[in-house]
Amino acid sequence: MQQSEYRRLVDQLNHYSRLYYTLDDPAIEDDEYDRLMQTLKQTESEHPEWIASDSPTQRVGDLLYTSFEKVEHTVQMGSLQDVFSEEELWAFHARCQEAEPELSYTVEPKIDGLSVSLEYRNGLFVRGSTRGNGLVGEDVTLNLMTIKDIPKKLSRPIPFLEVRGEVYMPRSVFGRLVGIQLENDEEPFKNPRNAAAGGLRQKDPKVTAARQLSIFIFNIQQIEGETVQTHAGSLDLLKELGFKVIPSYPVLTDFQQVIDEVRRIDADRHQNDFDIDGAVIKINDLALRERLGSTVKFPRWAVAFKYPPEEKETVLRDIEVQVGRTGALTPTAVFDSVTLAGTSVSRATLHNQDFISEKDIRIGDTILVRKAGEIIPEILKVVRHGAGEPYQIPSRCPVCGSETVREEGEAVIRCINPSCPATLKRRIVHFAGRNAMDIDGLGPAMVDLLADEGLVHSAADLYDLRPEQLTGFDRVGEISARNLTDAIAASKDRGFARFLFGLGIPGVGEKAAQLIAGHFGSVDALMEAGKDGIWQKKEAIIPGIGEVIAESIADFFERPESKELIEHFRRCGVKMTEEIVEKGTALSGKTFVLTGTLPTLSRKQAQTLIEKNGGKVTSSVSKKTDYLLAGEDAGSKLTKAQTLGIQIISEDELHSLIESEK
Ligand code: NAD
Repeated sequence: MQQSEYRRLVDQLNHYSRLYYTLDDPAIEDDEYDRLMQTLKQTESEHPEWIASDSPTQRVGDLLYTSFEKVEHTVQMGSLQDVFSEEELWAFHARCQEAEPELSYTVEPKIDGLSVSLEYRNGLFVRGSTRGNGLVGEDVTLNLMTIKDIPKKLSRPIPFLEVRGEVYMPRSVFGRLVGIQLENDEEPFKNPRNAAAGGLRQKDPKVTAARQLSIFIFNIQQIEGETVQTHAGSLDLLKELGFKVIPSYPVLTDFQQVIDEVRRIDADRHQNDFDIDGAVIKINDLALRERLGSTVKFPRWAVAFKYPPEEKETVLRDIEVQVGRTGALTPTAVFDSVTLAGTSVSRATLHNQDFISEKDIRIGDTILVRKAGEIIPEILKVVRHGAGEPYQIPSRCPVCGSETVREEGEAVIRCINPSCPATLKRRIVHFAGRNAMDIDGLGPAMVDLLADEGLVHSAADLYDLRPEQLTGFDRVGEISARNLTDAIAASKDRGFARFLFGLGIPGVGEKAAQLIAGHFGSVDALMEAGKDGIWQKKEAIIPGIGEVIAESIADFFERPESKELIEHFRRCGVKMTEEIVEKGTALSGKTFVLTGTLPTLSRKQAQTLIEKNGGKVTSSVSKKTDYLLAGEDAGSKLTKAQTLGIQIISEDELHSLIESEK
């Protein structure tokens, strides 16, 4: 390797390390990172004179760019030296024997989570922090408080105790949360470690709590008021004090038994409710540990044996496309079944078109699969192409056959047909929601019932329901049937803004619906306007409604299914009009420029106020400017306005101007 290549490798690893440690968003698989790291270590041992001070081999973790309080670790939180073969384990044993021929070790599972320190004073949990770079971490006490397995009070009031443990997301929780994310068409967590690391570094402890994290304690960092001689003894003490310690730590004196235990942990790993990425072998005698000491990065008395991830090759036979409740089309790979983490798998999500195109996945390819968190099957890469063509998700919805859309900047392709059976239930729940048509008693359970019984195929069908169609269903009596149809009938008069929001057109939220309804006054006027009537060449006709929304609305109303739906609503007597909000004229023809901080209005509010009264706001001062609305700390615009002799007004003066013109 050339020195320039070495430098590139350092930069590359620093980039990955930052994504992993600082942003909790790894870009590559751990074993790939480990392989690059091995190459780096090898090169540095051959060329010690090249070693860069910012090489990842010279530090633990990475820099912290967070707003959490910093915590200096009195006892350094080191990393572990990793080894990848049994020979290297024997070599570690031989090194230790140079210090002491008779040795005893503990062997523990290496939990794949993130390391934290917990401090207790007089038996009470007082502070918790992340490892950070080993010397300085982040104070995440409030977030750690949400973890049920962390005792807040110990069984004895030990004067001072600092322990170290690994926070992780149980596999069962990971599986459940990913299931929910997929159902809601959200980007799922990459793996349990990432979900745990991200969860612990949240600003809002409620978000951390929702991740249902757990912890295993594996070390005493400092203790006052008790003495311990061995590592296993200290873990026993921690158990007594109420901690959930690492699940197994047998003490072994024969090194072959150590090797056997390392193999056993690997063989049994699929049965655990937590991810491991290796086994940790530690010297049990604490006095001997002291003698052996540490390097800058890790202790000399322990080593981590890393297991290779379980990956299998198989052949991709088909790609099935399903439509989620939000209309998102999700492709699923169907492949020849393989056994991974103890179970047989034959399907994996392909996420979206970008994922397929990036990996160039084609039907007939030989692919490499594994299980993330040993639960969620995933395709790592294509090993070999077969005879298949590059794959494109079909442009028509596989459920209703209508044309699909891909919104700008979005990875997903959606079916937006308002009557598509796949999205029907969700659309009706939204339509009936409090901020839309506000139909009392029409929650998800009732919508399920109506759709499953085939009584509604679109939101407009609601208005055709008769009470007698509903009675007789489980838990629907005559009174509740009548109440529901009355509530549906009452919603006919909610007006165009709520109706428009209820249609669930992508991008049209509540506020946008109000603005559009106030401008056009009726669904007919809006349908007639088309895209050009809503947005024109770089100019929003309605302030706040940009090109993307305009396109989305036009797209929606152009569809024959949508036109039919609107006609159906009309037949049922649903009000699709609204009073047009007239623009004031107090400031018409006047051009304003804003600068500085105003006492009560935000820039946006000031702009809306001016526009509502017929004025125009531009960004820079010129001869055409009529007024400069200036607040505190006004900058160069003020000087320019003064030079050009433009009238400078305050927020108060703006209000007076509007009032006086009225
Ligand atoms: P490490 O995570 O491999 O090992 C040290 C950690 O093991 C300690 O901090 C400790 O918290 C933990 N641990 C778990 N169980 C333990 C036990 N029983 N006893 C002692 N410690 C235990 O080392 P590291 O330096 O934190 O990180 C390197 C790891 O991070 C590698 O696996 C690497 O693949 C991964 N990484 C990945 C990327 C990426 O882009 N994918 C980037 C950087 C690092």
